[in-house]
Amino acid sequence: MKKILLLICLIFSCCCVCACNHGYTSVSEASKGLSTYKMNIEYLESSKTLNVLQNLTYVNNENTQIKELYFHLYPKSFNLDSESQVVGILNKAKAYYNGESEGDIEINSIQCSEETLAMTYVHNDQDILKIEFNDPIEPLDSVDLSFEYVVTLPNCNHRFGYGENTINVGNFYPILAVYDNGEYMIDSYHSNGDPFYSDVANYEVEINVPEKYVIAATGYEEEVQQNEGVKIVRYAAKAVRDFAFVLSEKFEVVSANIEGVDVKYYYYDDPNFESNLQTSIDSLVTFNELFGEYPYSTLSVVKANFVHGGMEYPNLVYISDEVNNLEDYANVIIHEIAHQWWYGLVGNNEYQNSWLDEGLAEFSTVLFYEKNPSYNIDTGEIIKNITKSYTTFVDLYSSVLGEVDTSMNRKLNEYNTEPEYVYITYVKGNLLFNTLRTTIGQDKLIKALKLYFRDNMFKIATPEDLIFAVEKVCGMDMQEFFNSWILGKVKILENI
Ligand SMILES: [Zn+2]
Repeated sequence: MKKILLLICLIFSCCCVCACNHGYTSVSEASKGLSTYKMNIEYLESSKTLNVLQNLTYVNNENTQIKELYFHLYPKSFNLDSESQVVGILNKAKAYYNGESEGDIEINSIQCSEETLAMTYVHNDQDILKIEFNDPIEPLDSVDLSFEYVVTLPNCNHRFGYGENTINVGNFYPILAVYDNGEYMIDSYHSNGDPFYSDVANYEVEINVPEKYVIAATGYEEEVQQNEGVKIVRYAAKAVRDFAFVLSEKFEVVSANIEGVDVKYYYYDDPNFESNLQTSIDSLVTFNELFGEYPYSTLSVVKANFVHGGMEYPNLVYISDEVNNLEDYANVIIHEIAHQWWYGLVGNNEYQNSWLDEGLAEFSTVLFYEKNPSYNIDTGEIIKNITKSYTTFVDLYSSVLGEVDTSMNRKLNEYNTEPEYVYITYVKGNLLFNTLRTTIGQDKLIKALKLYFRDNMFKIATPEDLIFAVEKVCGMDMQEFFNSWILGKVKILENI
């Protein structure tokens, strides 16, 4: 029998503060005054390309004049000669199973309702587009920008690329970089983690595909037209952080309307489709109760050829068809659906503070299993196992490198290796929240998460916002607790 001892630096006593389920913002309320992306997308099967017309109405919701805008062009990082790597060396052969293949975005024209000074590409990879205006955009003023571009999908089992079963279209369009504390966040793609950071916006998207394809997409279907072998589906999504879709001619779909949400499971070759739909439903119901209500009308869980376990987008998650075990597959569904709360609704800079959404999504799966004993998962065992694997990681890295950096506030490109990123972000992140629970108690932790969700939904949250919610519920200073974990000072031990 093994006994686990987590050494933490402080013991707290607590008092309580109400964090009831009131004051939530609705989607229609949140969508007012946001920037709006309108896209007309045509998928050309023979060339595996997308012809896109995109009109963006940018609304300056900052408290300052805006003189320039930056856009991420993530497909540029799928160029063969790109400096930024989209997949780690260990997974490259698995992702590019047919050998090297290039993805790209080629912008043919940009028109603007205002006079512009210059349009330039930034970085050697030209993965950032910068637009400067002659006259600054005043707060609450707007500007219209029309793009015409061609996206080339690589043959690659990734967020963006086509494989044997699905065509994954994530992070494919020019998306506004976030203006954060006086500067634009223009970090390039990185193979560690999810290298994305965006504000919520409204989307109106028309997708034109050969009619044999089934489409899974962010948002809800407004209209479907079918004509002479072509299918055109119009989607709307309000107050979401991104837009993604997946195409497949193999998709079958099962769905259920649960608590006002159309939960759909898109799958192929899956004898367990009923069970996987049920896990999706159970995740929605459980997280609604634990954290606060999911306010959108659709949630699509999509089986896809994908190099990692899963990927989250607003209203839509990928689940990799390489996850064969039913229990592991369910675990990925739960984790990715938890991201609808932690990433989708409560946004954060995933490049800088990846533990904030990944650690919380991992810990949310622990909470899920405790709420759903029918899944027969012993969460004590999970914590025991991840503690052991974390301490083994630290011991191993320390013995090889002399010391190991266990700080959690690093950018994705500041982690030395992919395993280091995984252990610090997912495993240590999960242990942070579990230790916080041991310290303040389950009730206060859930109240704090509800408060954190309510106060930050549709916004960008920082670690300070999380600490604020915990402190408000506990009525005490929690900075030292979080600092000890985030700065890498806490010693996590396993006693056998
Ligand atoms: Zn995740």
